[in-house]
Amino acid sequence: MNGEPDLCIGGAWRHASDGGTRSSINPADGSVAGVVDEATVEDARAAVAAARTAFDDGTWPSTPVIERAALLDRVADLLQRDKESLSLLETADTGKTLAESRIDIDDVTSVFRYYAKLVGVQSDRLVDVGDASVVSRVVREPIGVCVLIAPWNYPLLQMSWKIAPALAAGCTMVAKPSEVTPLSTIAFVHLLEEAGVPPGVVNLVQGSGAVLGDALTGDPAVDFVSFTGGLATGRTISRVAAEHVTKVAVELGGKNPHIVFADAADSAESFDMAVDHVLTGVFLHSGQVCSAGTRLIVEESIADDFVAALAERAAKIRVGNGMDPASETGPLVSEQHRDKVEAYVALGISEGAKLVVGGERPSDPALADGSYYLPTIFDRCDRTMRIVTEETFGPILTVERFTDEAEAIRLGNDTDYGLAAGVRTSDAARGERVVRALRHGTVWLNDFGYYTAAAEWGGFGKSGNGRELGPAGLAEYQEMKHIWHNTAPMPAGWFKG
Ligand code: NAP
Repeated sequence: MNGEPDLCIGGAWRHASDGGTRSSINPADGSVAGVVDEATVEDARAAVAAARTAFDDGTWPSTPVIERAALLDRVADLLQRDKESLSLLETADTGKTLAESRIDIDDVTSVFRYYAKLVGVQSDRLVDVGDASVVSRVVREPIGVCVLIAPWNYPLLQMSWKIAPALAAGCTMVAKPSEVTPLSTIAFVHLLEEAGVPPGVVNLVQGSGAVLGDALTGDPAVDFVSFTGGLATGRTISRVAAEHVTKVAVELGGKNPHIVFADAADSAESFDMAVDHVLTGVFLHSGQVCSAGTRLIVEESIADDFVAALAERAAKIRVGNGMDPASETGPLVSEQHRDKVEAYVALGISEGAKLVVGGERPSDPALADGSYYLPTIFDRCDRTMRIVTEETFGPILTVERFTDEAEAIRLGNDTDYGLAAGVRTSDAARGERVVRALRHGTVWLNDFGYYTAAAEWGGFGKSGNGRELGPAGLAEYQEMKHIWHNTAPMPAGWFKG
């Protein structure tokens, strides 16, 4: 049995009903970052039931918007108060550098501030039906009980994209973080309590998705499932939720192109900046980013020089423990995940891609106990290779080459996914043409990787459906209701008898 209970159900903190626990491993050195209660299927069902009761009988759905917004702002204040402790938990669980974790907590704060403001300015829509005695209006109501399932790469950030709009809308919810990275979400739910979230509004279960998944997503008491994770899991969840016609939004993987035209690198300065952006776009967080620019699509005339410069800088990236300020990127999230990445590197070699740099674990004995992997670049890749078409979710960049704009667009769109893409060109007209032609949910022109809480995030194609962030990210948690109020009703007069 663990010390403090980690499951929050109906406002009460409890241990798992069978006393089960799981150790969360720090991927930097293999040590135990924390031991947490692991929910059973019964616990998951109890959490859904508690969320249902809080929605049907509780006060949160009808709490005035101004009070809900104030609570979100209080959460933002507490996040900043606890920024350092939350960042340390995030680094211990994921391995990412402390600098990245601090940015994550600032971003989580911005999400709460944004939805506090947005929900406060939403208004009903009056509809003129051409009859002065009829008041017709469309109002927004909370969708109900939500199941929120997050991945391990940005544990608290991805969860905040769900919890903040769900709270703003007046929903109740069950949150399930990844079994690999539960620690920051547990601390965060304590913080929500402190901010004044009523009992039962936010319930928390951690544990294996494979075990708890169906109990959460297939429960008829659930009105909406918001999931972020891999394609295979997204398919399963969509199938299970379909049984009760439960609404589902899935944010899935990506295989994101970064297209570099020669004119974007025609001076020493612009060349270096293009290299810098491609490098950061793919190797940040050791490539464990859904929107990582893992496919470099570069104009043939500069390709050799560009790849050589990339390789030189990739070899200098300081891979190390995220707690060490000198580290520029941390380990992969687990041994199992590194195995998967290593298998992709072996596959790339066997498919005939040219390994330019990396392709191995670091040799530094100080890193031997962690799941580190060196930034890796494959040149001479093409679309017949699985290394180019499948999401590796590791520090692997593949290089394809093009000779004209049409080919660049064709390659950029030649993917089942459609989450994000980057375009670099100094020709503004071409830039606009290409970004409009790309079938991806976010496209950066002469930049890469940035997002804001105020703009929608989501994918085309198999990168998912639905949107997070922005007004659409709040609308996911709201039902639209049309109210027709006739202030002076008359007989319909249709049936004469
Ligand atoms: P995953 O294996 O699909 O897991 C995601 C979450 O789903 C975890 O909490 C997992 O629990 C849970 N889960 C697993 N099986 C389930 C089931 N049958 N029913 C319900 N839940 C289930 O993905 P991951 O490896 O954690 O994350 C990496 C993936 O997320 C990548 O593909 C990445 O591109 C994607 N991602 C997408 C975005 C985006 O915005 N589009 C953002 C971040 C990440 P367990 O951990 O217990 O298995």
